[in-house]
Amino acid sequence: SSFSGLGLNPLLSTHLSSKMGIQKPTSIQRATLSVTLTESPETITRDIFIQSQTGSGKTLSFLLPIIQDLLPLGSLSYIDRSIGTLAIIIAPTRELAKQISDVLESLLQLRLRGTDESADDANASRVTRWLVSGLLIGGGTRTHEKARLRKGLPILVATPGRLLDHLQNTSTFNVSKCRWLVLDEADRLMELGFEETITGILKCLDGHRKLALQAVKEGIGKEVGGWDWERRRRTIL
Ligand code: AMP
Repeated sequence: SSFSGLGLNPLLSTHLSSKMGIQKPTSIQRATLSVTLTESPETITRDIFIQSQTGSGKTLSFLLPIIQDLLPLGSLSYIDRSIGTLAIIIAPTRELAKQISDVLESLLQLRLRGTDESADDANASRVTRWLVSGLLIGGGTRTHEKARLRKGLPILVATPGRLLDHLQNTSTFNVSKCRWLVLDEADRLMELGFEETITGILKCLDGHRKLALQAVKEGIGKEVGGWDWERRRRTIL
């Protein structure tokens, strides 16, 4: 089966094949997308637990549904970026956060008008111009991150400590509309001792509708951040 067969927006499938050389979904992508592209955070009642090896295409399996879910907002005539952050991806290390952010950036290149100015490119540019991603990782300056958060970052990739820091201390960081939360390598997040930080993050996002995608390399089989993942999860692969 193909990406379009799974219901991926043609803007995204064309971008994947023509700009990123990605033609066919891997098995984890087929399994995840068949659920996440046909449903939305409003209709998926249980969190999703993706278990797959590194190199299996896990990153796109959580980034594509997020972007597709946010695309329709782009057809509104005016989007106020003060709508805040709509999707947060948490990774255990700066390196991993950077890698995810790089993949996300290449997907979001779709918002840049192509040089050939085809109608498709113009359309992609129009509906995605507002989709901007940000990286919040320790090590950089807080002031710069705060300024970007104030302007609004629809999609964020972050390490846990810095994310919680901003949630608690940056008053203009608006997560009231956040729809997606991904814990990438959730098993490693726990191994590295981030359980308490994740609990704090979940508390700040509490009450807001969101879908958590928990991606792990191996099963963890325990409660994470006060959420009983075992009970809530729907296991994919
Ligand atoms: P990941 O498991 O997400 O770290 O992805 C591993 C590598 O596989 C990355 O270099 C991706 O660019 C590549 N990749 C992801 N999905 C596909 C696909 N459907 N077809 C070919 N390569 C892919």
